[in-house]
Amino acid sequence: MRQLWSTLDLQKKSIIIACSGLAIWLFSFFILFTQIESINHAALSLEYVEDLFDTILEMRRYEKNFFLYDGQNNKDQILLLFNEAQKGYRHMKGTPEIAKNFHNMDQWHDAFKTYGISIGIADGKSLTNVPDKNDQGKIRQAGRQLVDLSQDLLENIRGKIATATQRAVHLPLISAGLIIGLFFIGWILINRKVINPLVNLERATKKIGHGDFSPIHHSGKIESEVDRLVLAFNRMIEELDARQEQIVHDRKIASLGTLVSGVAHELNNPINNIILTIDVLAGKRKVEEKKQAAMLNDILDQAIRASGIVKNLLDFSRAETSVIQDVDVNAVLNDILKITGNERNLKKITLNREMNTDLSKIRGNHQELQQVFLNLVVNAIHAMKGGGQLTVRTDHDEDGRVVISVEDTGEGIAEDVIPNIFDPFFTTKEVGKGTGLGLSVSYGIVKKLGGRITVNSVVGEGTAFTILLPGQKEMIYE
Ligand code: ADP
Repeated sequence: MRQLWSTLDLQKKSIIIACSGLAIWLFSFFILFTQIESINHAALSLEYVEDLFDTILEMRRYEKNFFLYDGQNNKDQILLLFNEAQKGYRHMKGTPEIAKNFHNMDQWHDAFKTYGISIGIADGKSLTNVPDKNDQGKIRQAGRQLVDLSQDLLENIRGKIATATQRAVHLPLISAGLIIGLFFIGWILINRKVINPLVNLERATKKIGHGDFSPIHHSGKIESEVDRLVLAFNRMIEELDARQEQIVHDRKIASLGTLVSGVAHELNNPINNIILTIDVLAGKRKVEEKKQAAMLNDILDQAIRASGIVKNLLDFSRAETSVIQDVDVNAVLNDILKITGNERNLKKITLNREMNTDLSKIRGNHQELQQVFLNLVVNAIHAMKGGGQLTVRTDHDEDGRVVISVEDTGEGIAEDVIPNIFDPFFTTKEVGKGTGLGLSVSYGIVKKLGGRITVNSVVGEGTAFTILLPGQKEMIYE
């Protein structure tokens, strides 16, 4: 039975539980109805039998008087009451609801017959004189039998009323208990098979928001639509996980162009300086020894600077796993501003740096944050085609969280477009210029760090992106 139950799906189980509840309710209603019916019939029978019993007792009282004192009145009363008792008995016999309480009709019949014959009133004849001792004995015995039979019948009917009343009282309690039991089983079933998996789904959805793509635990057995939903959800998580990696990778390639041009420009300066210095050193004019040493130091400085730039490029392009570390946000932003400096100058964009120099470090991944800031800065530069002002601010909010904002005085974003800008592959840029991945990747990274990214924009005036990152102590996700 248990095995059979476990093979059924949730829909069948709930149908069985609901039908069982309904069947119990209908059955108990039916039984209650029959019990009330039988109480009704028994009550009606009781009335008749009580009358019969009283009539027989009365008849026996006159019978006693008659045997002791004779007398016409006694005779008349016996005759009257005997006829009345017989009439009552016949009426009950002819009424099926009452007749079914008589288990011993023959005995009733015999008792009436014996009494009637013995007392000499059988067949409606009038009562004779006081019978002799022998006949008196027979009459008394038949009379006693009628009394006993009426008493038995009364007890039988009272017993029936008591049993039916008990049933009518207990039955609703029992069926209510059974229905509550079924309701409880249904509740456990719904809880286990629907509510718990839905709660797990909700948790998993929240975790996805934090970049955690671990699947929901599931036995793989499909019992309901919810199971199908959980399995589909797990497939979606797998897919998202794969997509996320792909998106990060695509965005890296997309931003590599900007990065490379920035790095090339950055490298150009130290290399030019090195070439110029070496040129002077190797030239015909003799350089003083003291000055030579300073120039050599200069060459070393420039070489170290060039090597640092190359290292940054390597760091960025390496497919690293996201290691959480203490990150100096100002330093990351300065790196990005440096890399993008060339493009900024070309487009005649002035830079305002309003950075809090006491900014606390945050827990995050250096390369990922580089990517976020690069996306915002590059977007800002793209939005200011005819030049403008780029303002980069860092500070703490009143709760000690780190706030970073990147503001431009560019073209701005139309109100109806704003809801889409964080969607993957959404871009308003011409083909080949935008991938539509920058903001969606940035959003994912910031979310993963337990932070928030918001945008404020006015068309024709400019755009401000604000990132809120938790301080080291309140990091909620690593
Ligand atoms: P992409 O830059 O490749 O288009 P993003 O996800 O970085 O992809 O940006 C999506 C869109 O958001 C852009 O195409 C642009 O329409 C809008 N956008 C983002 N930043 C700005 C900004 N600073 N000013 C105006 N529009 C912006």
